[in-house]
Amino acid sequence: MTTKDRETFFGAGALDVSSRVRAFLKVQDGCNMVCAYCVIPSVRGGGRSRTVAGIVEDAQSLVAAGYNEIVITGVHLGSYGRDLRPKESLESLVRAILADTDLPRLRISSIEPMELREDLAVALAESDRVCHHFHVPLQSGEERVLRSMRRPYNPEQYFERAGRLVELMPDTLIGSDIIAGFPGEDEASFAETMRFVERSPIHHLHVFPYSARPGTHAATLGGQVPGDVARRRSAELRRLGAAKFTEFKKRFVGDTRQALALTQNADGTFDGLTRNYLPVRMRGDYESGKEYPVRLNELWGSGLKSVLAADRA
Ligand code: SF4
Repeated sequence: MTTKDRETFFGAGALDVSSRVRAFLKVQDGCNMVCAYCVIPSVRGGGRSRTVAGIVEDAQSLVAAGYNEIVITGVHLGSYGRDLRPKESLESLVRAILADTDLPRLRISSIEPMELREDLAVALAESDRVCHHFHVPLQSGEERVLRSMRRPYNPEQYFERAGRLVELMPDTLIGSDIIAGFPGEDEASFAETMRFVERSPIHHLHVFPYSARPGTHAATLGGQVPGDVARRRSAELRRLGAAKFTEFKKRFVGDTRQALALTQNADGTFDGLTRNYLPVRMRGDYESGKEYPVRLNELWGSGLKSVLAADRA
């Protein structure tokens, strides 16, 4: 694919500014992995990356248009640049965007644990313009189930790599995806996943009850888990995820943080988001899309939807 073809291929779909406050910039599509439950490689094909130059140009336009946060996205973002000649990497892309723009907040949408190598972790930690929030899919906390899913890591490797981000950036929020009720997941495997999540560096969970997708390897596996069991396990995981996210939010009560003003509520307060993904309810005057230092006073509400009440610092 030529440079021009690549940019045409992604076209206008590479940019999503629908939120008007945060811009989502797609830098990669497709995937070369073979996760047993996933239809994406057969539907979207192998990994293709946009050029660094094209992405930087888009990022410059977004900054000139007033965006203070860009989220770079891709189906398999950690594989960014492997198909380019000469090869590029997510690390080189992040460095280029930071060097060639004044963007205050760069967020990485999602990165697979096997791609969280030391050089990338260090590059992410080097700049205070990279948001300390990383979504690192786990899928299961039990080694046998991970192998059956064809995920190329074990729970301890996940722990080390996600833990390294927290070691380098102690205020980092780690989000993760988990599939509950994958074929062959028995009660002991599920209990192991619960124990792993509890002690892991994960603070925020997206939980999906497994459902077979026609045409995938997983749909042909024995040991399919009944839907009601998968739903019950999902509910347990969600409760655990909500408790961990609440604990994470509580850690920051009393801090002053930079928050991006998102939307105004009927009572005049603003919803905002810190760089490390804390949801805040801000009293005072703000402009949507601008970043402000705010003092985080207390946690309002309970569970997943609780927010940090904040005042302008
Ligand atoms: S789950 Fe993600 S990494 Fe695995 S095949 Fe699907 S897109 Fe690729």
